[in-house]
Amino acid sequence: MQYKAFMIKYAEIGTKGKNRYIFEDILCKNINRKLKSLGDFYIRKEQGRIFIEAKSEYDYEDTVSALTKVFGIVGICPVIVEEDTSFETIRDRVIEYVDKAYDRKNFTFKVNTRRNDKSYPMTSMEVNAELGHFLLEAYEGLAVDVHAPQEIINVEIRKVVYIYSINIPGPGGLPVGTNGKAMALLSGGIDSPVATYMIAKRGVEMEAVYFHAPPFTSEQAKQKVIDLAGIVADYSGAIRLHVVNFADIQMAIYDNCPHEELTIIMKRYMIKIAEKLAAINDCQCTVTGESIGQVSSQTVHSLYVINEVSTMPVFRPCIGMDKQEIVDIAEKIGTYETSIQPYEDCCTTFVAKHPVTKPILSAIYKSESKLEGFIDEMLERAVETAETVMCRCR
Ligand code: ATP
Ligand code: MG
Repeated sequence: MQYKAFMIKYAEIGTKGKNRYIFEDILCKNINRKLKSLGDFYIRKEQGRIFIEAKSEYDYEDTVSALTKVFGIVGICPVIVEEDTSFETIRDRVIEYVDKAYDRKNFTFKVNTRRNDKSYPMTSMEVNAELGHFLLEAYEGLAVDVHAPQEIINVEIRKVVYIYSINIPGPGGLPVGTNGKAMALLSGGIDSPVATYMIAKRGVEMEAVYFHAPPFTSEQAKQKVIDLAGIVADYSGAIRLHVVNFADIQMAIYDNCPHEELTIIMKRYMIKIAEKLAAINDCQCTVTGESIGQVSSQTVHSLYVINEVSTMPVFRPCIGMDKQEIVDIAEKIGTYETSIQPYEDCCTTFVAKHPVTKPILSAIYKSESKLEGFIDEMLERAVETAETVMCRCR
């Protein structure tokens, strides 16, 4: 069946009180942007719902798939819109709808009618009972179950009538653009793309920074990060990726500091650079893919020492997750296959044999003092020479 409209359900936005319209408007704008290349759609708000009407031919699967990537949406209901609100027409349309929407007509159901127009000559209960009766008559395999029906046939009588029963889950969250901007530290691994996705899901616009260390890390490693940003951008909207050349800084640390502290010191400078880029680009926070205990630089002691340089909130949405839980999300959002491509990361290139797991801040200060006099300038240069790549979904 070719549906001409979709009803979009959203949950959390409904709790926003006076500001609700701001969230709704941004959601409409994001839907519009997402569907632009798929057809001509008219999007409007109506009493806690968003309606999308197709004004041209469109591909159903592609459209639904695009909508499942718009944060803020909890349900996508393909809907029949009927302008004639007379009971007879509703009855015919509902019977026809069930015929087309279900290949096998052997399920339990109930009809759930809502009347917006209280002057309608029948009550909701009467419409439910009558429609139930006609459906049972039309299809032998159907049975009514008002307590635990397999399908709920919804009939909303407003200025027009809406008929729907299919509710395709959306991604949830809040519309991107409703809650500030973040700078994600995006490496080519499994965790940071998931972290980026999770913060975008809360409505935060995303930029990202990748620390590239040529010739120790290859162009393929960089391309992989660009690809990952593109996959996440399918949900978050375009991501501006700042590619920072980190090689000189890494070499300076390597030449001057104890090797077992290398990763910790590197991470501290990464956060410093990320915060500089965040400030320039109007971001209020940074995001990493760290998870407690995953590697030596992610013990609580290490995180304490790394975090110490930060002046902005560092969001770590994977912090309490097991690896498998992160992998599950990576698979769901489509980053996993790209993340496991075996390209080197700047952190692994310089990894020490026995990295510290309980770094001591005063010792780190002492090691970093070896870089005094030139490191600040190197950080500035790294920021100034960062290359910007606009990553959009493919
Ligand atoms: P991921 O799977 O995200 O690569 P990881 O388990 O490999 O994480 P680490 O390499 O210790 O963990 O990095 C921890 C976090 O530091 C990453 O999740 C990421 O946010 C950031 N990070 C590490 N390396 C880089 C890099 N080269 N560029 C940008 N961010 C990085
Ligand atoms: Mg990594």
